[in-house]
Amino acid sequence: MMNEWDVKREICEIGRRIYERGFVAANDGNISVRMPGGHYLCTPTGVSKGFLKPSDIAIVDDSGRQIGGDKPRTSEILLHLEIFHEVEWVNAVVHAHPPHATAFAVAGIDVPGCILPEVEIFIGQVPLADYDTPGSKDFAQTILPHLRNKANTILLANHGAVACDKTLEQAYFHLETLDMYCRILLLSKEVGNIQQLPEQKVRELLDLKQKMGIEDPRLAEGDTCTLSGSDEFLRGFSTRAIPQHTADANGHGRGSGIAGQPSQNGQPQPLPAAPAQRYPAVVAGREIPAALGSSSTTAQRRAMNDEVERLVQLITDQIISGAAR
Ligand SMILES: [Zn+2]
Repeated sequence: MMNEWDVKREICEIGRRIYERGFVAANDGNISVRMPGGHYLCTPTGVSKGFLKPSDIAIVDDSGRQIGGDKPRTSEILLHLEIFHEVEWVNAVVHAHPPHATAFAVAGIDVPGCILPEVEIFIGQVPLADYDTPGSKDFAQTILPHLRNKANTILLANHGAVACDKTLEQAYFHLETLDMYCRILLLSKEVGNIQQLPEQKVRELLDLKQKMGIEDPRLAEGDTCTLSGSDEFLRGFSTRAIPQHTADANGHGRGSGIAGQPSQNGQPQPLPAAPAQRYPAVVAGREIPAALGSSSTTAQRRAMNDEVERLVQLITDQIISGAAR
């Protein structure tokens, strides 16, 4: 168990990282840690997180009243306490304004899911909390429904993001993963269309996640990609099947990557699924309730995935039976 001085030093170190990565500007952002004695250490207000000293760290009680430290505590302590009170196993909270993630929060768009495996496992769905004035009790409570739905990383509308976990470094890593993910999403949109993982593969990731002891409400709900739109953001996403590895009886790999090219075991590659009809455009401006994706869109997407899978299977069967003749 780290002593109080070590925890203060760790808060300074995480502050330095969020500042250097450009997750906060000037004196923005705040960090807190739950201590065994029922009190909390938190960053002071009005000090850049890039240049904190252990002696700057404030100590507050369970109601947010300052009980130690020379500098006044962050004005956002209510947000942090709301998390500590709601989720008993959480010991650390980091709030910052990582620019790529905050872009989604400003645009009012849910971060689409079912795209990168690490994100599915370590963060899962990233809900978007309603806007309220920072520092207020109402603002602190905007995240409650999402905490109850087991979110460890939450976007704050027109503001930034907050992450929590057992350790300070884990909470910080969620913000790092989220911002990198959002950056990749924005870049992918520039390069072409975004391809989602097949639902069955997402389910495999969720099973893996469960084995690692990380809760994900989607396992119980049986609907893996409910928050996968952001219909606006994914509009025009690719319906091409993601090339997947399959091994033949001899253990040779046979992918569906490059049409017409010899594969590792000398068999011709199956053709990729037809570029297929475009995914039906979603009506722009349709209201998507916070924390809810469009179930009809999910159903359509699943139907499309099934159809693509069926086509790939058909083509593969034909090639195998042709080769056997
Ligand atoms: Zn903020």
